[in-house]
Formats: sequence, structure tokens, C-alpha cells
Amino acid sequence: MFKMNDTLSPLQQQLREAMSGWGCPLCRLAAQAEKTYIDSVNYERVIDVKTRDVLKASRGFCAHHSRMWEDLNGSALGVAIVYHISILDLLRDTEPEKLPKGGGLFRRGEAAAQVADILEASVPCPACTLVEETAHRFATILLKDLKDPTLQTLLRDCGGLCLPHLRMALRTPGAGKVHSTLIAVHREAWQNLMGEMEEFIRKNDHRFRHEPLTDKEGDSWIRALDVMTGKRG
Ligand SMILES: [Zn+2]
Ligand SMILES: [Zn+2]
Repeated sequence: MFKMNDTLSPLQQQLREAMSGWGCPLCRLAAQAEKTYIDSVNYERVIDVKTRDVLKASRGFCAHHSRMWEDLNGSALGVAIVYHISILDLLRDTEPEKLPKGGGLFRRGEAAAQVADILEASVPCPACTLVEETAHRFATILLKDLKDPTLQTLLRDCGGLCLPHLRMALRTPGAGKVHSTLIAVHREAWQNLMGEMEEFIRKNDHRFRHEPLTDKEGDSWIRALDVMTGKRG
């Protein structure tokens, strides 16, 4: 269990706790926020007018978040209520008298593209927005806390940030002061992982098959995917 530290704010504490297991802490925190949000939409927010207004403007959730909601228990009625509005909007937005006409071949192509624009959402998927905001919030805390050697060790031992979140952190205001530390910590984490992958590859050779793989070597290839693309779920 992670040791609590009284001098840290709850968010700093949360960030440290997210580094207690393997994998990018920003992925983990964003996934927690995402799950809480979709659960709350499922259980309570679907009756909230503001939530429904946002989901109307975004034409529902993106594919990933729609399916996440679909997979929750008891989601049928809530999904029907929200997506009934979305389908109704498609019908309203494509009423023949409202659509751009355009004569001539070129104009007709232009009119088709305009219809595509009409069918766009006016705001992004609210769950995606929340995921991004959560990662940003914790990236800012990470940058502020990075001078703490304890945090550096935690970050290295959890494998560091995934590459997409590392790029995001480096582009966050305040990164300029600590970016060399951030990269140094990640280089150590990548070197450790690379060593484990090299052993995994070597021990898969028939000449060394008798040498048992350690747990870390055994799943090093999956953790390389986590580093390059972000932690699953
Ligand atoms: Zn990540
Ligand atoms: Zn989304």
C-alpha cells in the first residue's frame, strides 16, 4: 500500500499513488476520471439538462466512449434518451429545404462538402475533453514536483509516462525548467525496459531456452507497447 504523506495536497498524493504500479500515471488517472464520468452519466447525469445539451452539441460520445457506455449495466434507457435526440437532430439538420443546392458539377461537389460540415458536431466528445483535461492537470503537478527525488524514483520505477503523454508534458507550460530531468528519468526507465526486452529475446533463442524468464522479462514486450502508445484501459 502507498505511504501517505501529510505535506502533499490531495492531487499531489493522487499522482504519487498512480505511480505505485507499472505504467503511465497520466493514463491511469485519466482512465479513472473517464470511468467515473461515464458511470455518472449512466446513473445520474442522463437526467441533467446541461449534460444532455453538451451531448446534443457533440452528437453523442465518440465511438470509444459510446461503446464504453453501451457496455455498462442498465445503460439502455439512458443511451436511448441521449441518442434519440442525436438522431432527431440528423433528421432536422438534413431537411431538404435547409440543404445547400449548388448547380453545376463543381458547385454540387461544394454543396456535398457543406452537407458534411452541417453533419459535424459543434463541440468535441465531452468524455474525451475530460480525459485530456485530467492528463493536463496532473502533468502540470508532475512538472512542479519533479525536483523531488522521491517523485523521480517513483516515475522511473513505474516506467515513466507513455510517449504521447511525455510529448504532452514537454509541451505544457513550465516544462522548460525541468525538461532535462524529465528526459533523464525516462532514459533510465527506457534503459531498464530495453535490458528486459533483450533478455526476453535472447532467452527465446533455442540455445538459451533452459534459462527461465523473470516476470519483468516475460511481459516486457507488452510494457513496450504501453510505453509507445499508452496504457490499455
Ligand atoms: Zn499515458
Ligand atoms: Zn470520447
